[in-house]
Amino acid sequence: MEALKKCGYNEVVECPYNKSHLILKTRIQKHLIQCRKSYPNQEKSTCPFNTTHLINKKEFSYHVEICPDRASFDLYKYKIDSRPYSSENENFDENMDEPNSTIDEQPVEDWSNDNVPSYNPQQYCNKLPLLRTKVGGTPSEKRAFREAQREVFKQNQKN
Ligand SMILES: [Zn+2]
Ligand SMILES: [Zn+2]
Repeated sequence: MEALKKCGYNEVVECPYNKSHLILKTRIQKHLIQCRKSYPNQEKSTCPFNTTHLINKKEFSYHVEICPDRASFDLYKYKIDSRPYSSENENFDENMDEPNSTIDEQPVEDWSNDNVPSYNPQQYCNKLPLLRTKVGGTPSEKRAFREAQREVFKQNQKN
């Protein structure tokens, strides 16, 4: 091994199955595919980055180094670590919500922009508890609903 290093082959690693196998780092993956066939019935460990990776325990530390899912895991961890900013963001969001909530409290009635004759809306609604519950529906349904409202309104006026 020393001789190999002196020759500039310092990217040599020991095979996890047999220390006498000195393999170039660039070749170790290919070697492991071949070499693990000679060492069946190995103890297995589950990869911490991807539970579908079942790794021979002897290869475990090597796999953790080169696992393709490690990059996304590191990214995920980084996002968690950068969370201290979120408390500031929450305060900011609360301030932003205030004007919105007051707008939401404004009553928005379906027929407010229509040509319905002027009247006291509260009084009108109290007379029509059933019709008042009708919301949504297709445009034609809404039109029919408004027509019905006008009819009932006229009837109430006569009474
Ligand atoms: Zn080997
Ligand atoms: Zn893995």
